[in-house]
This record gives sequence, C-alpha cells and structure tokens, in this order.
Amino acid sequence: MAIIKIQKGTKDILPEEMPLWHFMEEKANEIFTKYGAKEIRTPIFEATELFARGVGDTTDIVNKEMYTFEKSKRSLTLRPENTAGVVRSFIENGMHRLSAPVKLWYKGPMFRYERPQAGRQRQFHQVGIEVFGIKQATADAEVISMAVNYLKALGLDDLTVELNSLGCPKCREEFKTKLKNVIRPYLSQLCDDCRTRFDKNPLRLLDCKSPECQEIYAKPEIQAVIQGDFICEECAEHFEELKSYLEILGIKYTRNKLLVRGLDYYNRTVFEIKSNNLGSQNAVCGGGRYDSLVKNLGGEDTPAIGFAMGMERLASLIAKKEYERLQAYIVSNDTKEAVKLAEELRMKGITCEFDLANKKFVKQLEKASKIAKYAVILGEDEINSGEVTIKNLDTAEQIKVSRANIIFN
Ligand code: ATP
Ligand code: MG
Repeated sequence: MAIIKIQKGTKDILPEEMPLWHFMEEKANEIFTKYGAKEIRTPIFEATELFARGVGDTTDIVNKEMYTFEKSKRSLTLRPENTAGVVRSFIENGMHRLSAPVKLWYKGPMFRYERPQAGRQRQFHQVGIEVFGIKQATADAEVISMAVNYLKALGLDDLTVELNSLGCPKCREEFKTKLKNVIRPYLSQLCDDCRTRFDKNPLRLLDCKSPECQEIYAKPEIQAVIQGDFICEECAEHFEELKSYLEILGIKYTRNKLLVRGLDYYNRTVFEIKSNNLGSQNAVCGGGRYDSLVKNLGGEDTPAIGFAMGMERLASLIAKKEYERLQAYIVSNDTKEAVKLAEELRMKGITCEFDLANKKFVKQLEKASKIAKYAVILGEDEINSGEVTIKNLDTAEQIKVSRANIIFN
C-alpha cells in the first residue's frame, strides 16, 4: 500500500530534536518569569474575522496565507500568529481590570500558507510576549530587553536589533501622503502587490522584496522622504526615551527606517532582531507597539506592545542537545522482581528501564551500557539477600547495596 507522506511545509519534530525544543521552552519560562510574565494558551483556531480585523485585511497574512475552513456555517481560521488570539482573550476575560502591566507569554504552532523554503514553513512555532496597559517607553524597553535576554539565555549573541518608530496615526498620515506623491510617477512600473499597497497601505511599499521596486525606492527623491523625520514631537520624545533606556540596558541597535513590519496594527516602536548566521530568512524576532488593537477588537482602550520569535529559526542556530542517559537499567531474568524494582526506583525519582522482553543476561548488560549510567543487577543471589549489585557503566566499578538504600546522585 502507498505510504501517506507528511504535508509540504510541515515537519515532524523527532524525539532526538526534543531536548533542544525543551531547552528553548524552559528558557522562555525561566526568562519571562523573571519579568513577572505569565504563560497563556489560546486555541489554535479562532473566528476568521478575528484575524481579518486583528491582523488587518491589507496584509499578506490575511490576503494570501490563512488556512480558513467552514464548520457549521462558521468561518474558522488556523491562527497565523497569536497576538490577535491573546488580545481576544484579554478582552473576553476582562484582563483590563487587572493592575497594569499585564504581561503574557505564549508558545505554540502557527499556520501560514506560504511557499516553503529554508526557514519558512506552513506550520511553524512561535514564542512571544504581549505587555498590556503601559503607554510609556519603559514597556517598550522591557519588551526588547525580554527578547534580547531570552536570546542570550539560548546562547545566541551574533544578533542585530533593528529599531524604528512608525509614529502615530496622525503623523503617519502626512508621511503616507508625501510618500505617495513621490512614488506616484513610478506607479505603472511597480509590482502588482505594490500597486495594491499604494492604495491600501503605502507604508508597506517599503517592505517589498522585489528588486525592481527596490531600485525605484532607492531613487534620491524617494529616499529623501523615507530617510526624513516625519514623526511628531510626542512620538519623537517617546522614541528618544526608549533609546535612553536601551542605552542604560546596554542594548545595541541600529535604526532602520525601512522597517515597517508586516502587520497593520503597529504604531510608534517597531523592531526586528536578525541573525547574522541565517540565510535570507534571517529575522528571528519581530515586534512592536499596537496601541489601537485592543480597542479595535472591541475592548477598553489599552496600549500594548509585544514580539514573536520563530522557534524553528532559533533551533537552527542552537547546537543540537542530547537526551540525558537513563540513571539505571535493571538487569535481571526474573521479570516479576524487575517490574517491582523498576516501580520502586521510579517512585524514588530515578529514571530507569528494564528489559520488557526478558532477553539473555548478557544482552541486557550490553543494552544497559548503551543507554544508562548504572546497571542495577538483580540476580538470584541478590533477590535472596534483598540486595542489588550496582555497576557503574563508565568505570566498571561494582558495589552491592540493600534494595532500600539505592540512591543515585
Ligand atoms: P517574514 O518577513 O520572514 O515573512 P513576518 O514579518 O511574516 O516574517 P512575523 O509575523 O513578525 O514574521 O513573525 C515573527 C517571527 O516568526 C519571524 O521573525 C520569523 O522568525 C517567524 N516566522 C514567520 N513566518 C514564518 C514561517 N512561515 N516559517 C517559520 N518561521 C516564521
Ligand atoms: Mg511573512
């Protein structure tokens, strides 16, 4: 019979890769807990409308990348990102009543119908943070610090933080108009996507990957607008404050005025963290402030800022980790006694296995030396005297101890 294969753009995370994934997950818990953040787990599917409104219907994610299906006449979508879901939960559970800031972190699978390539899958994993309730730049600094310290804890340091401010809806409007005015003469030469962006979301023009469009945007009169300072005084102050906190924290960054991020909801601070050791999919982290999203989704007006990191991209930067060997492997041909001893050891917190198939003694010893630190030998003599022989499988040293006294360090 023909075998059924895994779907394009998806991957099994095999047992031998799990220690690395556990490491990433445990470090997330450890680092984010230091900042007082708590974990939240929201469903993998939500109403399609949540993403249309929450991510924005001018984005690639909503227009091209969503896995949408219908059940009982409801349109549902596998989450392409988790900010919208966390915001929905924040609103639905009245979390604005909690004392601010509310710091939430999450990890889990996301789904985007993209062209699979290195660093780009259709099901991938993100770990992320959302901080609600603080409009001051302290929250921006705190969130960037969480990202940087998490990456440090993973042992990643060859990274660049790119920073930009998109201003507020008010100052951005003027910028959009200026940008459109300088780009309009070239409209017919732009790619299809950019022609749509021009009308729907001109900021996203800067995000275009097409070399032809990039060449046009590199023209001096267009660069003059892009590189000019358009943000209003309050936005500029907020940005200066953030920069001063980053300085105190010793976080180096570069200003990237082309950084606009893919989602519709950002205002003021946006940032990306890129690795110098990845190919063209080099962004490991993307984040920013989204002060209007909670209100747009029907909640109380609540400022917020967060980030998401791609865990497969992180995993590809971290050296492989191995499972710990078992502490003990029970070697015995008396299966009933072995069952009993295994239970005793596991109750004491010792990791152990015994031979479920009761193979020959020598075979069991061979297996023990492959997978465990110690062989716990339970022969006829030992059973009669209530003892076991413990053999250190690295040094071959042996000692006899009573069964009640077995401890490993
Ligand atoms: P890109 O420009 O690479 O498409 P994005 O702006 O769509 O990224 P975000 O939505 O900000 O990405 O997601 C945050 C992070 O999640 C990215 O920086 C990346 O590390 C990871 N990521 C996004 N899409 C994918 C994917 N299809 N496969 C693997 N990782 C992804
Ligand atoms: Mg993308």
